[in-house]
Amino acid sequence: MSLEIQALDIDGVLSVVPPRAAPVPLVFDSPHSGLSLPADFRPAVSAEMVRIASDTHVDDLFGFAPDLGAPLLIAQFPRSFLDVNRSLKDVDLELVNGQWPHPVRDSPSARRGMGLVWRYAWGDVPMYEHPMSVAELEARIDRYWRPYHGALVELLDANHAAFGCVYHINCHSMPAIGHKLSPDPAGTVRADMVIGDYEGTSCEPGFVALAAETLKGFGYSVALNVPFKGAELISAYSDPSRKRNSIQIELNRRLYMDEATRERTADYAELRRNLMEFGAALKTYALHISSIG
Ligand SMILES: [Zn+2]
Repeated sequence: MSLEIQALDIDGVLSVVPPRAAPVPLVFDSPHSGLSLPADFRPAVSAEMVRIASDTHVDDLFGFAPDLGAPLLIAQFPRSFLDVNRSLKDVDLELVNGQWPHPVRDSPSARRGMGLVWRYAWGDVPMYEHPMSVAELEARIDRYWRPYHGALVELLDANHAAFGCVYHINCHSMPAIGHKLSPDPAGTVRADMVIGDYEGTSCEPGFVALAAETLKGFGYSVALNVPFKGAELISAYSDPSRKRNSIQIELNRRLYMDEATRERTADYAELRRNLMEFGAALKTYALHISSIG
């Protein structure tokens, strides 16, 4: 078995942090923690408002992954600029000037204004003054969406080829309380963490159970698939029957940051330590599955 994962940095687009220890069949990605605004992005709102939907600090909270032997893929741009956790068919046609020449689907996320490109910065505040041209959206997809998905697939394929299995952990955060744009009713008080396995289809159940039980062991409340079952990044490339497994994890922001200032709170270090231990438990499990072939 040989697995050589190289560091990759595409300025303003993505980074791959390669393993710093013997490789294990785990891949972590943080698609929404990016805060850098592309130079040609002209929102009608402030940069602060653009960043409000970001999973701030999630790349750091899972920054232990390379020390476990797992690569960590990180998007550098804000999710409301382009959401890589959407299918290319989730284009919100209200945002496009003229005829969009590619396939779309009836998308609940696009209907809520949270499609591939977001209609609102937050709540009901529009992100743009004018719809964008077909060429502008196509260029955004080519420059940001395709490289991210390409990098993820490469990591998943390389791990699967080397170990005969791969476990992908897709890392996110969520506001403490349900809001106007979310799938759960506004005002819903959320669990500490939500694990999504796309309603039981993106990951074999033993890994999901281990993940949930390990987190509960630290005292966290853990929900499964409600209100977040996961989206494109865990559904598009997983196939548990071929030992290609993906889960999504949503961390409640109240565990580690002040949602108003986005500053880390005193509890940050404890969560980070617990997540590291969580990662170690996932590693032991994944290596065991790989060893029994
Ligand atoms: Zn997210």
